[in-house]
Amino acid sequence: MRKLDSICVFCGSKEGNDQKIIDAATELGYSLAEHDITLIYGAAKIGIMGLVAKAALSKKGNVIGIIPEFLKLKEVVHLGLSELIITDNMHDRKMQMQIKSDGFITLPGGMGTFEELFEILTWLQLGLHSKPIGLLNVNHYYDDLILMMEKMVKKGFLAIDNLQLLIVDDKIDCLLEKMKNFKDPQKPKWLNKKRA
Ligand code: AMP
Repeated sequence: MRKLDSICVFCGSKEGNDQKIIDAATELGYSLAEHDITLIYGAAKIGIMGLVAKAALSKKGNVIGIIPEFLKLKEVVHLGLSELIITDNMHDRKMQMQIKSDGFITLPGGMGTFEELFEILTWLQLGLHSKPIGLLNVNHYYDDLILMMEKMVKKGFLAIDNLQLLIVDDKIDCLLEKMKNFKDPQKPKWLNKKRA
């Protein structure tokens, strides 16, 4: 079973309007702190991001925020974090998030959240890291995305093995348990294929 000392959370910079999602953000923050897992996230004080951080900090959790200089004002940087890392750009931010985290959890969010989820998933698909990626499907928020990914498999654009890289659950404890049991994916077969 792998040890998860730190988890990077990707989620919305807005709070949205679903109370179950708002509650899940707070519950995730509490849960990470209670399990002694460092929260790594985008350092914002606002939105779902801010709720997760606030909850973790309220339980004396360790919270590391990573934000590029240009976003500090727009996303209202949280100045009460255990550690704040300022990067030069988005690429450095994502790289630092990847290096510092033992796994990733995506909560509901918008385009930025989707971009972060798919980038870290494609890095796993390419074998650039081998860390578990969990999708917390709160109140069916991601049902349509999962259906879309199944369609990608059906239409021959996504290998079933790669679809299975994404760990999905609607309960935090079950998701964490599955992530701890995640086995490193095999080297992608296409990397072994000889060029024609
Ligand atoms: P959103 O889900 O659109 O509210 O965005 C959540 C967070 O994703 C934002 O606060 C950004 O910090 C981050 N993010 C990462 N990559 C991007 C991107 N390419 N475009 C927009 N936001 C991004």
